[in-house]
Amino acid sequence: MNSVAERFLRYAVVSTTSDPDSSTSPSSMRQFELLRLLEEELLSFGMENVHLSQTGVLYARVPGGVSGETIGLIAHVDTSPDSPGEGVNPQLHRNWDGLPIELSDGVIIDPSECADMLRYKGGTIITSDGTTLLGSDDKSGVAIIMETCKWLIANPDLPRPEVVVAFTPDEEVGRGVDNFDVDRFGAKFAYTIDGGEVTEVSSETFNAWSANWKIAGKEVHPGSASGIMVNAVRIAGELIALMRSEEMPENSSGLEGYDYPLYINGTTASAEVKVILRDFTTEGMVERRKRMETIRDCLSSLFPGSHIELTMKEQYSNPGEILKKDTRLVDYALEGFRQCDIEVHEGSIRGGTDGSRLSFMGVPTANLPTGGELFHSRREWVAEDGLAIALKGLKNTLKIWGKSH
Ligand SMILES: [Zn+2]
Repeated sequence: MNSVAERFLRYAVVSTTSDPDSSTSPSSMRQFELLRLLEEELLSFGMENVHLSQTGVLYARVPGGVSGETIGLIAHVDTSPDSPGEGVNPQLHRNWDGLPIELSDGVIIDPSECADMLRYKGGTIITSDGTTLLGSDDKSGVAIIMETCKWLIANPDLPRPEVVVAFTPDEEVGRGVDNFDVDRFGAKFAYTIDGGEVTEVSSETFNAWSANWKIAGKEVHPGSASGIMVNAVRIAGELIALMRSEEMPENSSGLEGYDYPLYINGTTASAEVKVILRDFTTEGMVERRKRMETIRDCLSSLFPGSHIELTMKEQYSNPGEILKKDTRLVDYALEGFRQCDIEVHEGSIRGGTDGSRLSFMGVPTANLPTGGELFHSRREWVAEDGLAIALKGLKNTLKIWGKSH
């Protein structure tokens, strides 16, 4: 195995599932196990300013570096709570023949469902044993950054920018940068190493809003309900019916946004519906929010006597506009990955990353690939060669930053 894959395998077996229901930081204390291991290794490499905060953010700086911009590298240590993450037992499928890979429990990884798997035919594919996720998201990113630090320290004369790194907890529960200290980090620009196939550098994420509905009806014995009852269950049903099904996640892809009713609960007296809105453009999001308000007004007039409360909140924003202000961040990365002799494109993530929030906290951040796919599932995989390409692409990117001064 190459060294980045070996490193990844060591990190993958440390359980770091985050917990959406916890109010502590980090959300699960088990994340400290990997953070402490990384802290020790960073110190043993000879990294400077190594600091593990009480809330589970690990910072460090590569010694030396030339003048110019300081570039930050970020990966998250937690794995998604959507899939089991305890007792990860990585499997190596050497000399992979390009056919579906069958794991235990009937878990099948079908290359036809993956964007870029056949690239690795003949090489080694790493999966879990089928009972857990693999945790390539984002321990691949962690391993790539650690190898990059080692390489930079071993090659002090290389023209390169100043490089700082950070490992965050709780990205998967949307709290990755809640306690992030931008000043301590010290980067002018950053890359999260948290993407998928090696052919995509991502510069955009969704704009994201939540729309929470509280519906109050009027309950009465159904036998004497005529003209009196206002049924919150019916109103909630009508609300979903008034939404556009063609704008829902199962009917949207590419650069299309969506309106997604993801939770419903209620009785005659009261009901609750949670909706999330996603759109790449600001104007598109304004439209989606307007549509929610129109539905509210419509329901209020359809159901006199009801009380309908709609609360909309911003969750994160597309950093695309910020990243366009200085195109070096994305351009250098595209060039760095092109130098790996692969077709690379600039992509848009149908979701958010720590980078979308960091960009609005003053550190423009783009997202680089790790080579893994089918994240958050027991079918998650990464190729040994994919890790190597992702590592090389990042090294090339830093070299380009170094030469640009
Ligand atoms: Zn991730």
